Amino acid sequence: MPQHQSIDTPITASMLYDLVTCPHRVTMDLFGNPKEKDNPNPFVELLWEKGTLYEDEVIQNLKLPFLDLRKFAGAEKAAATRKAMSEGVALIYSGRIEADDLLGDPDLLRKEGSAYAPIDIKSGAGEEGSDEDEDGKLKKTYAVQLALYVDILERLRLSAGKVGYIWDIHGEEVAYRLDDTRTKTGKETLWQEYQNCLTQARGIVNRSLETLPACASVCKLCHWYSSCLKAVKAADDLSLIPELGRTKRDAMMNEISSVLAFAECNPEAYFDGKKTRFARIGQDTLRKFHKRAKLLAGHDLGPYLKEPIILPSPPLEIFFDIEVDTMRGRCYLHGFIERLNRDNSTEQYVAFFMDSIDERGEEAAFDAAWRYIKGKQPCAIYYYSKYERTIWRKLQAKYPRICNSRDIESLFNPGMTIDLYGDVVRSKTEWPTYDHSIKTLAKFLGFQWRDTHPSGAASIQWFDEWVKLGDPKMKQRILDYNEDDCRATRWLLDGLRNLSNSTNDTQEEKKAG
Ligand code: SF4
Repeated sequence: MPQHQSIDTPITASMLYDLVTCPHRVTMDLFGNPKEKDNPNPFVELLWEKGTLYEDEVIQNLKLPFLDLRKFAGAEKAAATRKAMSEGVALIYSGRIEADDLLGDPDLLRKEGSAYAPIDIKSGAGEEGSDEDEDGKLKKTYAVQLALYVDILERLRLSAGKVGYIWDIHGEEVAYRLDDTRTKTGKETLWQEYQNCLTQARGIVNRSLETLPACASVCKLCHWYSSCLKAVKAADDLSLIPELGRTKRDAMMNEISSVLAFAECNPEAYFDGKKTRFARIGQDTLRKFHKRAKLLAGHDLGPYLKEPIILPSPPLEIFFDIEVDTMRGRCYLHGFIERLNRDNSTEQYVAFFMDSIDERGEEAAFDAAWRYIKGKQPCAIYYYSKYERTIWRKLQAKYPRICNSRDIESLFNPGMTIDLYGDVVRSKTEWPTYDHSIKTLAKFLGFQWRDTHPSGAASIQWFDEWVKLGDPKMKQRILDYNEDDCRATRWLLDGLRNLSNSTNDTQEEKKAG
């Protein structure tokens, strides 16, 4: 244990989980002013509730005998766990283990040989997988928690080896072998990643490591969001630049202190041969962020195209958005706005909502949505980010009687079906905004959602309420939100078409004029 380490504040598994998500979260939870905390986010509360319910369900259905230590807390729980391990209990539920400055509450401790391996029960998938490019990648947040338990067991000379397990939402047992790397191409083992996190956590606890807030997508669900956003804006922090992020901010901030300073500098002053002076930031990337800094600082006049865009223009355009309950693993709504001849007065919203929350309901909604879109051909289809394609591929694999995989690939053929985010916004435009989400860009262009708190996370929470209470007002709220998301995509498309004559060069000319 490092000197001066206070065991008043032990390093816990949840602390390491938070640290992987955002190191500043650990600082704020330990030392932040509680009065600056936002109210708990209802979606986050729902996630906690679901996690607890799922754990209860797993334990109730467990066929193996186990010792239940739920009735104990604190030191009593730790003593009961020590006793159970010394007696060789085969499976211990809700125990507590501690050694030096480390404290862990693994869901289960399983006897393997003469020692123990930790198991955590998670109401999510045991590996990354929401994105089709990420299948098979172990989750760092889970790995560091399991590694902490193994570390404690090693210190107690009770470890069955450098491995822990996740019992996941699919009923799978996923092994986290800590001497392996998290990805096929990774250089550090999970154990090395854990050691780095442990060093950081200790630094935060004993205040030798200072962390800073940053602007990131994860912040929107954090209870320090308002406080951090205020601080980040006051500092004109580089992480306000879309996609720059915490790591690149940290690499740059000793030399470039703010968005304004970046906007006013010559980025080539930081070039070093074929690279830049900043770790893992190439010259093109630095130029791109510099352009974004100029937009945020008001040095450029507004959003612009980096290159011409060519979009299909058949008479019928369809704007597509789905809603997915990630906790139940169900796609519960497919929504479409259709428009003829670019005439907004022809617009109509068509939606296919699950009428029951089982597979039959999901299949019926997908079937109806599939028939609808097939019946509308030929048309141009617009959606925002590849999520819709990913989910429809998964639905096709789950319900192959509806269509085959070639049908899906031909529907998402980029000639007529455009991912406005990936194919246009991200690659061909720049905006004076802090991110490129559909909410941010459509609002920038003047679109307003009817709901006061529109978000995909909120929609999942409304869906959960609708499932539990069957309130038709809640269903209508979801439909209105989805309709507005589809309409916002149309609004953005029109905005993008209006940008087509405004390149960065013409902006320079306008400014000069
Ligand atoms: S708001 Fe963002 S930067 Fe602040 S603690 Fe939360 S996740 Fe970290």
